[in-house]
Amino acid sequence: PKCEANYAPLTPLLFLERAARVYGDRVSVIYGDLSYTWAQTFERCRRLASAVSMFASAGDTISIVAPNCPAIYEMHFGVPMAGLVLNTMNTRIDANTLSVLFHHCETKAIFVDLEYLPLVHKALQIWLSSSQPPGKRPHVIVIEDRCIGSGAGSTSSSSKKKYLAGWGELVEYEELLQNGDPQFVIQWPADEWDTISLNYTSGTTSQPKGVLYHHRGSYLMSLISIHMMEMKEDCVFLWTLPMFHCNGWCYTWGVAALAGTNIIIRSMDVKLMYELIAKHKVTTFCAVPTILNMIVNAEQHIKKPLPGRVNVSIGGAPPPPSVIIQMEQEGFSIFHAYGLTEAHGLVLACNWKSEWNDLPVQAQARLKARQGVCHLGLQAAAVLNPSTMEPVLWDGVTIGEIMAKGSTIMKGYLKDQEATRSAFEGGWFHTGDLAVVHPDGYIEIKDRSKDIIISGGENISSLEVESVLYQHPDIFEAAVVAQTDSFWGETPCAFVKLKETGRIITPESLIVYCREHLPRFAAPKTVIFCELPKTATGKIQKNVLRERAKALNPA
Ligand code: ADP
Repeated sequence: PKCEANYAPLTPLLFLERAARVYGDRVSVIYGDLSYTWAQTFERCRRLASAVSMFASAGDTISIVAPNCPAIYEMHFGVPMAGLVLNTMNTRIDANTLSVLFHHCETKAIFVDLEYLPLVHKALQIWLSSSQPPGKRPHVIVIEDRCIGSGAGSTSSSSKKKYLAGWGELVEYEELLQNGDPQFVIQWPADEWDTISLNYTSGTTSQPKGVLYHHRGSYLMSLISIHMMEMKEDCVFLWTLPMFHCNGWCYTWGVAALAGTNIIIRSMDVKLMYELIAKHKVTTFCAVPTILNMIVNAEQHIKKPLPGRVNVSIGGAPPPPSVIIQMEQEGFSIFHAYGLTEAHGLVLACNWKSEWNDLPVQAQARLKARQGVCHLGLQAAAVLNPSTMEPVLWDGVTIGEIMAKGSTIMKGYLKDQEATRSAFEGGWFHTGDLAVVHPDGYIEIKDRSKDIIISGGENISSLEVESVLYQHPDIFEAAVVAQTDSFWGETPCAFVKLKETGRIITPESLIVYCREHLPRFAAPKTVIFCELPKTATGKIQKNVLRERAKALNPA
């Protein structure tokens, strides 16, 4: 029989309370010249919780538009501690979209870093002048960065007055905390399925959708992430990943579970990253492959010796094996994982087997570049044929769609029953990613369903073409998309950023190079040299490139 007295809803809020109780004197946060202990972080979060509870009723949403900084970290606890839903907005969203999203989630308060005040100002002006003006205006709280060495942006505190004039008083974050109650009583969730946060998808392929996370899933994912990265209680976590992306892949809450130390930086800077790794003896960080590419291609004088083992979790986009090899040669230990916003950022983990330790480096990198196997918190993750919902053969060739089910998948999309229904069709969450399963059960992505190129009836994996391009010594980064072709239907079009090597590389020479390394039909027909557009997390925006390819060849 179920013992009611033993039942307590799972929530990552438990981690902070425990960290303060057991490890109160340990350093929780370092940000430029500023640092806090876990006891201080807990107190600041309670003050914040008491302040935000004045703005909203249980279940309401509170938004933040900020880069990594102590305030966004504290919001991860302070907002849900008041029984409210945390909505971290991507700082690269344009003002129009931002205004639509504020309206969509009916936010009750917007916390904004001073650097993004002009953006929020513009978004709220658009909102006010829209055909459906809001009921009650959200409160606006400005986060002023007074810390030395944080790399804060150019908007000065004095220029703040010219924004949102007539909106009402703009409260300052520290002032809000000062007036908050340090003894605030935490509003524990009544049910572990209550919503803890709202994350809009970054829109690499479509319009953003509002993904709802529950306390249970966030609790489990935090523990799974720290376990996966072999983090211990002395861990030092460097925030190279924006916390607004899937709640920082749940390491926001995970570091608190260990009472480790968060080293927070506003944005990714390779030189600063090397300095902080050495200074604070960083043990762990997370990055998308484009960031790893920046690290391996950094100038030699920037690179500093590592203080010990530094574990790096990579994901968010497929990592070219060549980048994995280079990172490991630099001394980093790479751990590859795959996921998406709807799954708290993680579905598969590429678990390493000691049997592979003696394989040649190239073979090891190829194994690590695979997306892996179902993580511990899911009931299942599999590659299914979407028409029959049957598993594909484990032959490394037959393509199906990655699907998953279990406690770390989202509740659904905010106010979008139709999208939620179709995402969970047949009892599985459909990721939209196409993959094969190797005979050892490890899954390897071939493409997103939207990214696969179909040329003369043949499926071309854009990832395979990109992987060949990344092996070229003169290529810094590359992305391949479909271009319409009157004869073949579609052909691959490559967008390439070259390294500054001084050697002369032409589009034709790259096409010849690809033909030497790929089946002829898979080699790009067009190569364009340019900067590649990226999302806030550094992922290449293939939807933007597809539009560019279309504009080049409107046929
Ligand atoms: P968006 O869908 O807007 O890009 P997400 O962050 O949710 O935002 O992106 C998830 C997608 O990123 C996945 O569906 C997949 O296509 C891609 N992705 C994530 N991790 C990996 C990985 N390790 N390997 C290959 N693709 C990945």
